[in-house]
Amino acid sequence: MVNNDSKQVDRIFTYAIPKELLEKIDLGFRVKVPFGKGNRMVYGFVVEFYDVIDASIKKIKYIKSMCDDFPVLREKDLKLITIMREKYLCTYIECIKTILPNGMFKGISNKVKNVIRTGENLKDRFCKEPYVLIYNIVKKNEGKFNKNELSKKFSVSMSSINTMIKHGFLEQGKLIVNRYNERQYKAYEEKILNDDQKKAVDMILNCKKNISLIHGITGSGKTEIYMNLVSIMLQQGKDSIILVPEIALTPQMVERFKGRFGKDITVFHSKLSLGEKYDEWLRVKNGKVKVAIGARSAIFLPFENLGLIVIDEEHETSYKSESDPKYMAKEIAILKSHIENCKVVLGTATPCIETYYEAMRDEVELITMNKRADGASLPKIEVVDMREELMNNNRSIFSRKLFSSIKEKIAKKEQVILFLNRRGFSTFVSCRKCGYVFKCSNCDIALTYHSEGDYLSCHYCGNKQKALRVCPSCGSKYVKYFGIGTEKVEREIKKYFPKVNTLRMDFDTTRKKDSYENIYNKFKNGEADILIGTQMVAKGLDFSNVTLVGVIAADLSLNLPDFKSAERTFQLITQVSGRAGRGKKKGEVVVQTYNPDNYSIKCAASNDYDDFYKKEITIRRDMNYPPFSNIFCINMSSENENLLIKNIQNVAINLKKIISKNDKIELLGPCPCVISKIKNNYRWQIILKGDINNKYARKIKKLVYEIVKYDYNSIRISMDINPINML
Ligand code: ADP
Ligand code: ZN
Ligand code: ZN
Repeated sequence: MVNNDSKQVDRIFTYAIPKELLEKIDLGFRVKVPFGKGNRMVYGFVVEFYDVIDASIKKIKYIKSMCDDFPVLREKDLKLITIMREKYLCTYIECIKTILPNGMFKGISNKVKNVIRTGENLKDRFCKEPYVLIYNIVKKNEGKFNKNELSKKFSVSMSSINTMIKHGFLEQGKLIVNRYNERQYKAYEEKILNDDQKKAVDMILNCKKNISLIHGITGSGKTEIYMNLVSIMLQQGKDSIILVPEIALTPQMVERFKGRFGKDITVFHSKLSLGEKYDEWLRVKNGKVKVAIGARSAIFLPFENLGLIVIDEEHETSYKSESDPKYMAKEIAILKSHIENCKVVLGTATPCIETYYEAMRDEVELITMNKRADGASLPKIEVVDMREELMNNNRSIFSRKLFSSIKEKIAKKEQVILFLNRRGFSTFVSCRKCGYVFKCSNCDIALTYHSEGDYLSCHYCGNKQKALRVCPSCGSKYVKYFGIGTEKVEREIKKYFPKVNTLRMDFDTTRKKDSYENIYNKFKNGEADILIGTQMVAKGLDFSNVTLVGVIAADLSLNLPDFKSAERTFQLITQVSGRAGRGKKKGEVVVQTYNPDNYSIKCAASNDYDDFYKKEITIRRDMNYPPFSNIFCINMSSENENLLIKNIQNVAINLKKIISKNDKIELLGPCPCVISKIKNNYRWQIILKGDINNKYARKIKKLVYEIVKYDYNSIRISMDINPINML
């Protein structure tokens, strides 16, 4: 298999092994091979051996060299790669790149330092200064410093060091420098499990299906269950992988796991540098660690004796990859459980509808936990109808109820979280005179106003421009800002409560590596009274002094044109509500909405997942949405709109020909996507809905590539089964 992105070279190539490598080379090794007409050197991976060469191969090339002194892929990985390639309709090399740390394709390997050690004992004319001094310094710091460091740190001459090396009194050696986090964390005390937790652990360990779902309300003690399972695995000499959603990762879970299991646990997420990722990966590969906690990609860490995979907050959309292979962590976990015979545990307060449906059909073991572990009660959730507020002349973004509750909590020195799933200040800017809307010049998207820095930005391509005070279309000064974002919420709080300290947690305030953790720590230490944020505050945070959560606009996720919007709304409200009342004090939640009668809001407010599931699954069945069907989305984009339309129409015509024989599949489109242009690329889509299995999807994919073949360079194609969003 060679490193080349083209679909045409997605197959296994045959190379001869030079004599000197015959003994060393094995399956899974990474090698350098000459490729193509120009014999460019590319990475290749050894996946098969042949004793005789296929007669059809005329001129065989030789492997140039080996890249590592160990196989980077194991047989288990090769198995997984083959399955993934089939399942996700992608290439071998895309799978390999997903499984291995990406630095490996960018020349990253061990970081080595040339350090100095002592050699032979000093003798003859060297038994004097400065040689004796240098010799003794090195002896004290054997293998720690390189030449430069020695000479600088101890003010000794470089030429003397060099002379000593020349005569063998000092030697140069290599030291591998570790690029991973060895920070110490405060010890986290082991809790004695309550009966519900003990029962859950037993059920998971004895589960024949190997896959269980813990449906446990927020605070029911799921994390303690995971930690207990990890301990049991350690006792059995087995390894564990704990997946958490990317943004919930940084402080809390790491604190608890590192506090309990010590520093020998790998933390693996996208903010690590290429070198750090490589080192963490190698640590796992060499069996130096037995536990990993990480985001989606940690699922591929090469543990030798994997016993457990936990996916916390399994409903999270960040568990699905948006680039090829478009895998879902849950699916990979199940594949791995077949290959490596490990347990898979999914945990959440708001299971994804598809997962719960599997549990209802007994394909997944269901464990229900509906009490909070520390005896606290779930917060009371109150829904406020914002239409009534308007009728009562309240035009502020806070309802009277939320306003008075904030005031009350502040007075009691308790903390508040305000949630709004939109960053920036105003979400669109338009002219009141002529109706002109400020849009991104590259995308079909209204620009968001950011008051910090006074600029307009496109949340799709990142394009920024200075805010304008006059309308570029008619020249009027009636430019108005509509909609609210987190910046505005913060501004309004400061206006009404000037003495209150606020913190904001959103994409804009958490770009730097440690900023999320800093905000988290500040709020935890009580340095702020109110935390304002996007969905980043909805997940996993456990602050005992938070007694009020305000959902500023629950409708945001409800109004998206997507069959999952009700589910997302239910999940978000439930999750963010779960941040309130986690300590001894009782919690309270205020949900502001213009749709108080919507079932997802009502069910979330009454903490009734079962009722929500019943209503939602009925709609899914009636509308033939997943889990009763699969949705296959063909998304095509191009800078050339006409060419794009011509091609996608052609695709549709040809698809209709093969589909007509199969009644169970519905074809929708072609039509422009909801966001019809991003980064100067026009976007159209075709949606197929119905009984689409993997074989069928592969057939469609092949057909699409065949049709677009001639314009392949100008048109981008993305195909996905059950995409997480179809905008
Ligand atoms: P979840 O992951 O379901 O949200 P956690 O595991 O975070 O729940 O537990 C919620 C709170 O209850 C935490 O503060 C935790 O320390 C506490 N807790 C969990 N299990 C126990 C237990 N068996 N005894 C005492 N406290 C517990
Ligand atoms: Zn105007
Ligand atoms: Zn844009």
